[in-house]
Amino acid sequence: MQWHTPLTYIKGIGPQRALWLKAELNIETLKDLLFHFPFRYNDRTLVYKISEITEREEFIQIKGNITKVQIQGSGFKKRLHAVCCDDTGCVELVWFKGVKWMEKRIVTGSKWVVFGKATRYKNSLSFAHPELTSLTEFEQYQGAHLDPVYSTTEFLKSKSLDSNAIKRIIRQVLSSGISDLPECLPELVKSTLNCISRSTAFNQIHFPKDPQALEDARKRLKYEEMLALQLRMQRLRLRQKAQKPSVSMPIIGPLFNTFYSQLGFELTQAQKQAIKEIHNDLKQNSPMNRLLQGDVGSGKTIVAVMAAIIAHSNGYQTWLMVPTEILAQQHYQGISNVLNPLGIQVRILTGSTAARDRHEINTALRENRVSVLIGTHALIEDGIPMNRLGLVIIDEQHRFGVAQRAKLTQPSMETMPHVLVMTATPIPRTLAMTVYGDLDCTLINELPPGRKPIITRHATESQRLSVLGFMRAQIEQGRQIYVVYPLIEESETLDYQNLQQGYESLVQEFQPPHFQISIVHGKMSNEQKTFEMNRFVKGQTQIMVATTVIEVGVNVPNASVMVIESSERFGLAQLHQLRGRVGRGTDQSYCILMTGLKLSQDSRTRMKTMVQSQNGFEISEMDLKLRGPGSIEGTRQSGLLALKLTQLAEDSPLIAQTRELALRLVQESQHSPQFPSWIQELLSEYQSSTNDFSRIA
Ligand code: ADP
Ligand code: MG
Repeated sequence: MQWHTPLTYIKGIGPQRALWLKAELNIETLKDLLFHFPFRYNDRTLVYKISEITEREEFIQIKGNITKVQIQGSGFKKRLHAVCCDDTGCVELVWFKGVKWMEKRIVTGSKWVVFGKATRYKNSLSFAHPELTSLTEFEQYQGAHLDPVYSTTEFLKSKSLDSNAIKRIIRQVLSSGISDLPECLPELVKSTLNCISRSTAFNQIHFPKDPQALEDARKRLKYEEMLALQLRMQRLRLRQKAQKPSVSMPIIGPLFNTFYSQLGFELTQAQKQAIKEIHNDLKQNSPMNRLLQGDVGSGKTIVAVMAAIIAHSNGYQTWLMVPTEILAQQHYQGISNVLNPLGIQVRILTGSTAARDRHEINTALRENRVSVLIGTHALIEDGIPMNRLGLVIIDEQHRFGVAQRAKLTQPSMETMPHVLVMTATPIPRTLAMTVYGDLDCTLINELPPGRKPIITRHATESQRLSVLGFMRAQIEQGRQIYVVYPLIEESETLDYQNLQQGYESLVQEFQPPHFQISIVHGKMSNEQKTFEMNRFVKGQTQIMVATTVIEVGVNVPNASVMVIESSERFGLAQLHQLRGRVGRGTDQSYCILMTGLKLSQDSRTRMKTMVQSQNGFEISEMDLKLRGPGSIEGTRQSGLLALKLTQLAEDSPLIAQTRELALRLVQESQHSPQFPSWIQELLSEYQSSTNDFSRIA
């Protein structure tokens, strides 16, 4: 038998069962079958004596003879009763389904290992629908102490393709030998990774003789899986670099130094380092593809602005792309404030820019009279002239997909712009290495000095009055407050009702014109949103009631309180982002997480994490543990979800190791037209239709 042998040719499967397995589990070949790993293992080392059994929760096994078999009842009530005894006592075995089939198997006098949960019924112990293994089979595979359990479906079970049947098929395949399951990793790689051989790994992952053997097998197969993914990533990264040249920006220029000296504060070490790395990339004539990661408030904007000044001094334009209109406005105001005095022209282009202005901006861009263009995705949707485009900065990456990033490097362009992606969603290192594996990473791992930690409290509905009192006291001290409501599509109408009610009760409580309250949500027009937002920025309103449209990037230093309603409905990453909207000024800031009284264990952990930690990386590690990689934006496109074995939260050393190895291997074969054949084979092995990433690469 061979690796790609269709299931039909495997003894005991046949065309009908092969069709079912394909339809239900997407298992088509022998390879697919062996990649159908057990999801759990039962410990079958212990065999109980019947006298030792007490009623208990877990599965146990006994060994015994069938002494009596009897059909009871008829029609729907038909049951099969059997008595099974060892030398210490007897138990009853009962079947309500599959009676006919069972009756044929368990004849009086036959010997079995019975595996199941014991329950006491009318003073006698019984096993309902236990799993039976003939004593002969059990003794033959005594070595298999950890008994594999396979996922299957209700349909397959109804066709007798339950976990046990799958186990038997896999055992038969493995014991009959697969002619082309030789080692796929070269000796050098295998010894670098210090792992067992491939065929041993496949044998041991299905039938481990002890936990250590299982561990070794999993480790080996995780290496393969991760190495394949990392090889793809690194290949993509190098290809992007090699694809087209970019423009080189060797000059720093006097404006940079002017800006730097007039800054009014000292850059953090991490900011300085980031600028250095970015400038180093900009000098090259292969395009930069860099991810700038930094917690909320770590000062990424300055870094971006300084990169834009470098581009300007070299005669190139910078486009800054942000996810929302509000944020574009804010960046436009902030950035033109600092760049206009230097004579650097800044413009804004969004969905709501009038056609006439749009036309004028296009002309200015063509004539290179604009140096910094700030905008939303409107920048990539229209045919805006890109001829002097040298640097693209994407702020808050998590709202942009890989595909959108790709649009910025259109085939019509002779050179590629340098790309800097900035994200405030700190993601764990291992994940960054994989999700953004095609990007180089820079990390801003410190906040500007003098920031006071934000005091975070969890409050329930019963504490509402004291929360309101606290809000009032803060407003009286001149502070401003955000009140944020969740909004999800599935319950949109209800969510808007909550928002509206919340707004109205605040209006009641705080009685305009004494205090002013703004409201911003997704159903308002862009002008309305910007208008309300500006009132809040200027301090004309004291409270901003909003949905998560404010989540991304806004900067109002005087806002020092963030109240998050129904906090239990937000993920950790989002809560952390929202909290990052406060704590930007010199005043003590607060974050209040409002929840209902009853909370799930999970929500409790999230609230506790938020109260205890302010470190974005710690928080996203926890998020990864609680919700898995699917919780983190950007993972969907990355193929991570197709990983069968590797656990992103736990396997970080392995991920780092394979990434390093992949990088080296890709570099080694950079100048040959193809990868060595073993890599090509490995890649095709791990290429599946469910893995989106393979389509990208
Ligand atoms: P983010 O990384 O979340 O985008 P911003 O760039 O908006 O953060 O910066 C947050 C605030 O910190 C801004 O008001 C900015 O002017 C200020 N800031 C940035 N760098 C420093 C620094 N080195 N020292 C003091 N304040 C800084
Ligand atoms: Mg920002």
